[in-house]
Amino acid sequence: MKKAIFLLFVLCGMISLNTQAQASDTAQAAAVDSAKLTSAVQAAPFNVDSATEHWLNTLTPAQRAKSDAYFEGGYWLLLWNTLYAVLIGAIFLLTGLSGRIKKPVSRFGNVNVQNLFYGVIYILLSWVLLFPMNVYQGYCREHKYALSNLSFGAWLQEDLIGLAIMTVFGSIILVLVYIAMRRAEKRWWLWGAGICIAFGAFAAFIAPVWLSPLFNKYQPLAEGRLKTEILSLARANSIPAENVYQFDASKQSDRVSANVSGFGSTTRISLNDNLLRRCTPAEIKGVMGHEMGHYVMNHVYKGLLETAVFLVILFALVNFLFQLMLSKYGHRFGIKSIADIAGLPLLVVLFTIVSFVFTPVSNTMVRTQETEADMFGLNAAREPDGEAHVDMMLSEYRKIDPAYWEEVIFYDHPSGRNRVHMAMQWKAEHLKDCK
Ligand SMILES: [Zn+2]
Repeated sequence: MKKAIFLLFVLCGMISLNTQAQASDTAQAAAVDSAKLTSAVQAAPFNVDSATEHWLNTLTPAQRAKSDAYFEGGYWLLLWNTLYAVLIGAIFLLTGLSGRIKKPVSRFGNVNVQNLFYGVIYILLSWVLLFPMNVYQGYCREHKYALSNLSFGAWLQEDLIGLAIMTVFGSIILVLVYIAMRRAEKRWWLWGAGICIAFGAFAAFIAPVWLSPLFNKYQPLAEGRLKTEILSLARANSIPAENVYQFDASKQSDRVSANVSGFGSTTRISLNDNLLRRCTPAEIKGVMGHEMGHYVMNHVYKGLLETAVFLVILFALVNFLFQLMLSKYGHRFGIKSIADIAGLPLLVVLFTIVSFVFTPVSNTMVRTQETEADMFGLNAAREPDGEAHVDMMLSEYRKIDPAYWEEVIFYDHPSGRNRVHMAMQWKAEHLKDCK
């Protein structure tokens, strides 16, 4: 769903990616025995660096090579996705496709209705053109690395649900942004950013109740010690959660995952069945501590605020570039002004390129919050070895030990090495408290 949203309409997609990244942390279960590792680390005199190395060395060279290949392939996909989006934009603009869509919708008298229909047709056609890339990325590649449990039919069904959500939300956003273009004229980009952030907040608010259940089944976690401990951890950190939910993520993959999603009245704590099946209570508490950190530190609100500033800059840049292109190629592309819906493909191409260039900025915004949540989680759950083990589980789909700039540019979470090192540093300062 994330990819479809991002590629079909970058403005809305960015908000979605940001809020999802803040709210959800996934890890892949690795075939290591946590208890054995913990006791091996504890047997030697405690040294943060060597304890970190010890955890990192639990990955075999083959596991590390596979994980590196998968994650580094993602760097290239960023570039290919951008170029692919440019190619699709070129198809719309240079073949006259954009004009051909505009012609029949012009029969509607009202310009908003015209824009609505153009938007729906544009989103559906883009989905068709993006389909080969989405199949490769979302289905073939995930299966090649054994990271997906979905059959093609099930994958397609989820992709179509994402398309339906995108068609409804995307076309409404488009109509509103084009109203802003006509009314506010030169200052439209400020309104455009405002409209997108408002929809982003709305999507984050309704996601736990209306959107997530479209992909997974949620039910209250069974009564027992684990639920009692999670709710106790929540109360100890002033989180007003009265229930904990579990969802059937195992149908999609074996990744363990938990989140504190929504805000205001829709706030809820959810953990997936993989986490319950594959992790010890100490590891689950480590994960929940991290997620609660997002809630306590108001990361959703701060993230929305940061994204708002980021979007204003993005919209301003895109507006500048669009006007530049309009003056040079407007006639060739059949675009009369920025408020002309025929220019939508160019607008999307420019947003895609600018977002690509700003990838290190958006990743760093999210990664900073994730680092804060890690620190909160360590202090709240007090399970450094549980945390380190889960950090190692991430390595099946995230390169464990990147170079400094590699992490700055490509990582929306801290690297496994840094997370384990933080956990071991915390442990070194709390040796007497650790079991
Ligand atoms: Zn997180």
